Amino acid sequence: METVEIKNCYDSHAHFVSTGRNQLGLTLKTLQSADDVKSLVIKPEHFQGDWLVGFGWDNHLWRDSSLPHKDILDKYFPDFPVLFGRVDGHAGWINSKGLQKLQLPHDESTGVLLERDYIQALMQLPKHSETQLKAQIKESIKTFNQAGFTHVRDLSMNSLTANLLHDLYNARELTICIDGFITAENVVDLERAYLDFQKCQQIKNPYLRFHGIKIFIDGSLGSETALISKNYIGKSHNGLLAWTQDEIKTALIYCWSRKIEIAIHTIGDLAVDIAVKAAREVSASGLLGKLHLEHVQLISPQTINLMKPLHIHCHIQPSHWLSDKKWIKSKIGDLSSYLFQWELLRKNKIPFSFGSDSPVEPTSLVRTYEALKDSSQFEIPALTADIYSYHAHPDHTWTTSKTVFDTEKIHSVYFNGEKIN
Ligand SMILES: [Zn+2]
Repeated sequence: METVEIKNCYDSHAHFVSTGRNQLGLTLKTLQSADDVKSLVIKPEHFQGDWLVGFGWDNHLWRDSSLPHKDILDKYFPDFPVLFGRVDGHAGWINSKGLQKLQLPHDESTGVLLERDYIQALMQLPKHSETQLKAQIKESIKTFNQAGFTHVRDLSMNSLTANLLHDLYNARELTICIDGFITAENVVDLERAYLDFQKCQQIKNPYLRFHGIKIFIDGSLGSETALISKNYIGKSHNGLLAWTQDEIKTALIYCWSRKIEIAIHTIGDLAVDIAVKAAREVSASGLLGKLHLEHVQLISPQTINLMKPLHIHCHIQPSHWLSDKKWIKSKIGDLSSYLFQWELLRKNKIPFSFGSDSPVEPTSLVRTYEALKDSSQFEIPALTADIYSYHAHPDHTWTTSKTVFDTEKIHSVYFNGEKIN
């Protein structure tokens, strides 16, 4: 079998610490039904303070694919608070004990928290201990390295993580380069995110680069919260816009006037269009800066045209195709023709990179390869270029690292000249 050599092999969209946290934490990916939680094997490391926390359930894989109810959690876990995250990270399943402990803005009597309510719940959980955090970071490094990656772009960076990474570097245990973005949850949160960004920037480390702030303006297709240009099939809504158009412009101005980059989570085609139009308006006023568009799973040719004069980099996760193809058409219908427009982006010379969205999808070159091969058998135009070049870090000079890969497995990984795998 033919092997390829990828320089500075890059996962361009990941949640770094969550990746290791997931490996060590309670996984719910194997549940076949909501009731299966009764057979979970619970260990002390699955707790965050007094909360039992797990991640990865996907009701689309269940016999009954409707959203689960808190009554089931109450039945098996009556004694302590429980919060279980959906696989896409956009919904959480909580028990009554958990609901009693939290301050949430909406009535949550079903026990399923969506979008902001879920994020608010996560923010109110007790923090992981520093020992837990260190173990999770080490596990993340191992996971990415074993998957062949020497470079990762982390959309969930913060100064606490950055300092622990720096400690690992000093202990000669950091075998990965990380591009970091700090998430701002809303327009009021920009200031906190920027202060934390400045703390990160004080860390001088050859393997860590801090770029700016990430916001997310819509949800996910799985939860029907991604903002699309038509109503979801059989529904009377087209998703949600989590930031108003004015707030998006405020965020662009906030970042670009401070000479930092902005990354915007935009999954639905309408969300991408709104982000691009906001960037054009701000640019037209004379303020220029770099914009990263995250996911770009669904995009119209008109929006791609509007992107041309801007300083944009798109980040696409091909492996989402493998997970979503079962149900995607039943949710978005004709809009499927806008799915995964890598070839059109390439033709229009819009730069893009491939990533995984780990831990939403496993970080994996094999899955990228499979997704590109598989999707071209449906109506998605095939990418007529070296697909692995989209897994190389755009800065070829950032360390001398390389990964040897043959579409089925990783043969060897060198980080900054040293063989690590
Ligand atoms: Zn993500």
